[in-house]
Amino acid sequence: MNKNSSNIMALAPNTSNKRETVCIFGTGDFGRALGHKMIQSGYPVVYGSRSTQISNLIPKDAEVLSHAEAAQKAAIIIIAIQRQHYNFLIPLAEILHGKVLVDISNNLKLNQYPESNAEYLAQLLPGSRVVKAFNTVSAWALQSGTLDASRQVFVCGDDVEAKQMVMNIVRALGLTPLDKGSLLAAQEIENYPLQLFPMWKFPIFLSLGLTAFFFFYCLALDVIYTYIYEKKNFSFFIAITIPNRVCPVMALILLALVYLPGIFAAIIQLYRGTKYRRFPDWLDKWMLCRKQLGLIALAFASLHVVFTLVTPMRAFVNWRTSKGIISQALNNKTEPLNNTNAWISDSYLALGILGFFLFVLLGITSLPSVSNNVNWREFRFVQSKLGYLALILCTAHTLVYGGKWFLSPSAYKWYLPNIYMLSLVVPCAVLVVKFVLIFPCVDKPLTQIRQGWERNPKHSE
Ligand code: NAP
Repeated sequence: MNKNSSNIMALAPNTSNKRETVCIFGTGDFGRALGHKMIQSGYPVVYGSRSTQISNLIPKDAEVLSHAEAAQKAAIIIIAIQRQHYNFLIPLAEILHGKVLVDISNNLKLNQYPESNAEYLAQLLPGSRVVKAFNTVSAWALQSGTLDASRQVFVCGDDVEAKQMVMNIVRALGLTPLDKGSLLAAQEIENYPLQLFPMWKFPIFLSLGLTAFFFFYCLALDVIYTYIYEKKNFSFFIAITIPNRVCPVMALILLALVYLPGIFAAIIQLYRGTKYRRFPDWLDKWMLCRKQLGLIALAFASLHVVFTLVTPMRAFVNWRTSKGIISQALNNKTEPLNNTNAWISDSYLALGILGFFLFVLLGITSLPSVSNNVNWREFRFVQSKLGYLALILCTAHTLVYGGKWFLSPSAYKWYLPNIYMLSLVVPCAVLVVKFVLIFPCVDKPLTQIRQGWERNPKHSE
């Protein structure tokens, strides 16, 4: 036998790969876009429509028939019609019996109806096999081919075989199916496209609130106080000086807030002596948005770096430096180098650089493309161990920079502490409690609890 025959066989067209006809009810935007994509992927497409007239908007190779005729030609029928028109399907119940109906619909509001659209369709046509899919993909993305951001297609349904058939189509279209289980998951899948950055809401509102508070705090102490008591107009501080005070403070506090819920969780577990009781809702929600808090903190830290780098370009800084040089020249006296100050400034800069480096590393490892490539232990090492190290370095950076003002009465304008002092409260509290938690007498029972041990087991034999 010719030794190349196997290759020739492999290259020959595989007739068993012929795609099955798919029926699409509705020739609207989504029906046309999906039909177009299916024809490109080799599926014969037949439309079921109220009007069988072919318009030039409909994909060239598709057939358009009445709903009843089209349904008879395929085992899978995609319902590209709004939920409020589903009643027209009831008279077709007999033809649709045993067929796979794919519900792709979305609603205008979260939880708009008591049951999901897919469950409603299944109630209307109990003899059909309903699968929910494609609702998170937009007609525009399907048509333009810009599916990079939404390649994932959530699929759910009670009939495993029907779900597999739909997932095969999803794959053939170059998309990635994600099995979400039974039709009970349809409500969640339908709510998904209506959500607007759900995990970002709390971190963004918190950041905006804290930023506004610290901005006005600095405005009062650095601009208004100086204007009233020293008759100096430092209003230009609003542009760079104040933002460059607020940004590092925000970065440090938000980084500490990433680790604070973990501390609360540990204390609660130690107190309860079990991990099998749910955390309070607020703590659960807080834990879920730690990544977002960390990324916002990184954004503030990056802004702080940029604001600091432009400092030598500022007219005010140049004026202050030349004023110092001229006064030394007039007095014919050079100020000796203050070694302590040189140490302090170099130390806080070094601590800041190292802290920022680790901050960036934390940000990079939280990207899905990176976190998917490290195992759980590696991810925890970076996010927990290196994360705490970043918090220690950033706290030390702030302490070394602002520490000298702690005992200086001039730092307490209107008896209020400087914002450096305020920014240290949460990080120092987190670090002190974390330090206590790593003591063996505390760490050992906590580790046991996390491995499933219970102080007062409910189901002991
Ligand atoms: P559409 O442009 O309004 O088209 C809906 C189609 O439904 C119409 O073209 C019509 O097709 C048919 N129809 C209208 N009234 C009907 C009635 N009384 N009885 C029977 N059929 C009727 O809507 P679409 O944007 O394509 O959306 C269709 C479904 O896909 C919706 O449930 C939507 O939530 C979902 N979806 C849309 C997108 C998107 O990007 N557009 C994304 C995800 C999911 P015929 O004239 O051929 O009968």
